[in-house]
Amino acid sequence: MINHRIQFQWIVWGTVDVMDAQRNAGATARRVGAGAGDLKSRTHAVVATAGAHAAAVDSEARFPAEAFAEIRAQRLLGILVPTALGGEGASLGEVVDVCYLLGQACGSTGLIYAMHQVKTACIVRHKHGSAGLERILRRLCAEQLLLASSTTEGQRGGDVRSSEAPVQRQADRISLERRATVISYGAYADGIVTTARRAADADPSDQVLVAFLKSDYTLEFLQGWDTLGMRGTCSEGYTLNATGDADQILPEPYERIHAQTMVPFAHLTWGAVWAGIAAAATARAQAFIRHAARHSNGQLPPAAAQFTRALSTLQTLRGRLASSLRSYEQVMTDKKALTSLEFQSMITLTKVEVSELAVATVSSALRACGLAGYRNDGEFSIARQLRDVLSAPLMISNDRILSNLGASSLMTPIPKSLQD
Ligand SMILES: Cc1cc2nc3c(=O)[nH]c(=O)nc-3n(C[C@H](O)[C@H](O)[C@H](O)COP(=O)(O)OP(=O)(O)OC[C@H]3O[C@@H](n4cnc5c(N)ncnc54)[C@H](O)[C@@H]3O)c2cc1C
Repeated sequence: MINHRIQFQWIVWGTVDVMDAQRNAGATARRVGAGAGDLKSRTHAVVATAGAHAAAVDSEARFPAEAFAEIRAQRLLGILVPTALGGEGASLGEVVDVCYLLGQACGSTGLIYAMHQVKTACIVRHKHGSAGLERILRRLCAEQLLLASSTTEGQRGGDVRSSEAPVQRQADRISLERRATVISYGAYADGIVTTARRAADADPSDQVLVAFLKSDYTLEFLQGWDTLGMRGTCSEGYTLNATGDADQILPEPYERIHAQTMVPFAHLTWGAVWAGIAAAATARAQAFIRHAARHSNGQLPPAAAQFTRALSTLQTLRGRLASSLRSYEQVMTDKKALTSLEFQSMITLTKVEVSELAVATVSSALRACGLAGYRNDGEFSIARQLRDVLSAPLMISNDRILSNLGASSLMTPIPKSLQD
């Protein structure tokens, strides 16, 4: 998905399209089309459906079809897209909130929604008036298309800033054949947004981002997805064979898209899903402790302290996410600040911190619930939340991120004051 090897010399300034103007516009009076209504109530409708089917999605390792039917009915897939193209011009904060709510109901639904929004944001912010990309965004909104992401390739794992397969060009047509070892919901998506080497003679780090719709590609099955958690993301491997028009390539080099949009949007939306999972586990632990106290004359069980610990790490996690979101919103229009060493390490480390805190919170919730939490069944089970959240530190290995940041961390200024 994203590479965290921050190579600051790659970060060159480009312009960021639309969201700058929209960012401060707020959530007012922009909802259009069928399913209109305030975003919160539309999200709550999806949350109810996602929650009702979460256990089946997990146990059958199947795509959350019911939740996405409701997401489409509520027209939540195009909310980030500007109104001029049929969307709602929602802010990142609004999208992050949707991710947090969905994460509480069904981790797989939340993560799929988050990955779709990351790809949508890349197109919205870096399309620079491209007719081909605007056509895709219009269709996304009108037909509620779901976009998947392909960055993992061959055996290179999460080294997102490196691609093997090149885009081949013939006049104004392009083609791409890529061994995409993990594409979440690839079989269920209406389009795939993929990294690729810019040309056959380009370096692996000289990449572009390309948007293909379903009619542009075929997927040949490579490997399945029978995992501990996040089973409903159906993140199978495929050989992607795609053709399209040259204007489906985003006009900016991927290095800029990566630093300015991909990393911040991914870390904040994924983080919100993981925070949602942690919140759901904490809520179960609270219900369990209350239940146990009611059945022992108000006496709190010894593991109640673990619930307090879960509450505490959840608060830290929410605080970190909120402050990183604020920082990003502040620099979205400030190109110098956006690519500063300080901002880039902060937004990169947000993923490490938030994923570890989410795992710690769910682990404490499990201990608070004891055997009732350890069970796969029952109203206090933490099993699904634990299995889902364990993917967070692995989804781009935190160790990879930390070791890639090692050298640049030496240059990061250490704040002298608490108010810096
Ligand atoms: C829930 C979930 C959803 C995901 N969805 C997507 C998606 O939609 N699209 C996408 O592109 N990616 C997706 N990924 C994959 C993700 O982006 C990373 O590629 C993946 O987490 C691996 O990260 P990593 O390379 O940092 O770590 P690791 O897997 O720990 O790999 C580290 C390194 O070990 C080596 N290595 C790993 N496996 C092998 C092997 N079998 N043989 C030889 N060497 C190996 C490689 O050098 C690799 O770079 C998803 C991952 C998860 C957990």
